[in-house]
Amino acid sequence: MSDFIPTGIQLSYLVASSLFFVGLKQLSSPATARNGNLLASVAMLLAIVATLLDRQVLNYEMILIGIAIGSVIGVVSAQKVEMTAMPQMVGLFNGFGGAASALIAVGEFWRYYQKFQEPPLDTTITALLGILIGGITFTGSLMAFAKLQGLVTGRPITFPLQQPVNALLFGGFLVGSVYLAFNPLNTPVFLALTGVSLVLGVMFVIPIGGGDMPVVISLLNSFSGLAASAAGFVVMNNMLIVAGALVGASGIILTVIMCKAMNRSLTNVLFAAFGTGEGGGTTAVAGDMGDKTVRSIDSEESAMMLGYARSVVIVPGYGMAVAQAQHAVRELADQLDRLGVEVKYAIHPVAGRMPGHMNVLLAEANVPYEQLYDMEDINAEFDRTDVALVIGANDVVNPAARDNSASPIFGMPILEVDKASHTIVIKRGMSTGFAGIDNDLFYKDKTMMLFGSAKDVITKLVSEVKQL
Ligand code: NDP
Repeated sequence: MSDFIPTGIQLSYLVASSLFFVGLKQLSSPATARNGNLLASVAMLLAIVATLLDRQVLNYEMILIGIAIGSVIGVVSAQKVEMTAMPQMVGLFNGFGGAASALIAVGEFWRYYQKFQEPPLDTTITALLGILIGGITFTGSLMAFAKLQGLVTGRPITFPLQQPVNALLFGGFLVGSVYLAFNPLNTPVFLALTGVSLVLGVMFVIPIGGGDMPVVISLLNSFSGLAASAAGFVVMNNMLIVAGALVGASGIILTVIMCKAMNRSLTNVLFAAFGTGEGGGTTAVAGDMGDKTVRSIDSEESAMMLGYARSVVIVPGYGMAVAQAQHAVRELADQLDRLGVEVKYAIHPVAGRMPGHMNVLLAEANVPYEQLYDMEDINAEFDRTDVALVIGANDVVNPAARDNSASPIFGMPILEVDKASHTIVIKRGMSTGFAGIDNDLFYKDKTMMLFGSAKDVITKLVSEVKQL
């Protein structure tokens, strides 16, 4: 019996780890993502129950109270948060993950201090790693949250000698860590190191523009996994080590995917102070574009073009998210479908402001998965498309990324809507997108601008198309 429980617990960890693998795999496709989420939740429950049985838990009441408070906060925030505020919510929760890992390391140290007993060297090293990564993740994520929420400026905050100051702080942490490894019972040094890791988190995030926060949050998510893994080594819990490594690896993969889709290096995102963070740059009035001409169209004419087309590809972007136009868009697609128009959606990997932003919004509006096409699949179809309907997208359809080697976004893969027979662009004015650059698509002969906020415009289009 005494052997049975530890074996059962390790087996539960193994099952939970396998479920995490399958769940993560399923999360990579919209069709299986819900199931993947469910599997991963079951795995987490199994892991928690096994851990509660595994450890000599002194006080179950406190744990139950913690679970109850956490569940209430989780349910309320999941229901209340706007879809456009999702990146900052993820950021905030990431930060708490980092704080939890750092606290595990602090708690383990505290146990030794109380007994005036020196912790073994490997415990000291892994605990310091947990404190460093967990501390950076905690305050870095809080700063990312504050930038996205508009609590502090979204613009990069820089000051003279910023990099040397950061290097000094990091160097100080390393020197202090070596000292602590040989004098583990020195409380002031331990507290100072914890403080330095918290300051490093703030210093890491302040010079980065608000618009790049989703990439930073993805990177911090990866950090929170590494911190959890380190905490797993501190308390020798296999489940925490595996789960942390999975979060660490998937976070870094996502970060790399996002950087590639923006055609930027991670170093550029972290150190180039790119983006204003305000979600748009200069504004110009339609028609007043120097020697360039903008052709505008009204909703009645647009409805005719769409209704009498054979094929329409809808290209959603950040503006659709801001306007919360996804339900109206679905209604428009339904009306076009009724008229026998073939409707497809083209999804750019970094359209919007977070990974999967468009997929999530369209899924919320119950758009069938089969109608969603990734960039690689849909690009070959644009030259056979009658109308490309761009809704609040800008950078992801900017031909300069393909044609103009001097453009800051040159090399970023785009949705090639300019190859369609006609393009209708819905946006409020001529403002730039996240990258802050003008878009030649808007001045092309085949492009017509339908000005207005996406939800109002699409709602008008729906009623016009209904009359066809
Ligand atoms: P953009 O940011 O390029 O452009 C959005 C456009 O939406 C603006 O030009 C704006 O023009 C328009 N808009 C704003 N509000 C409305 C509204 N209510 N109705 C209609 N239009 C509106 O968006 P994209 O999706 O094309 O590109 C995303 C950008 O964000 C890329 O540069 C990407 O690299 C970057 N990014 C993406 C991340 C991700 O994970 N998805 C993460 C970090 C950055 P106007 O004001 O004239 O209406």
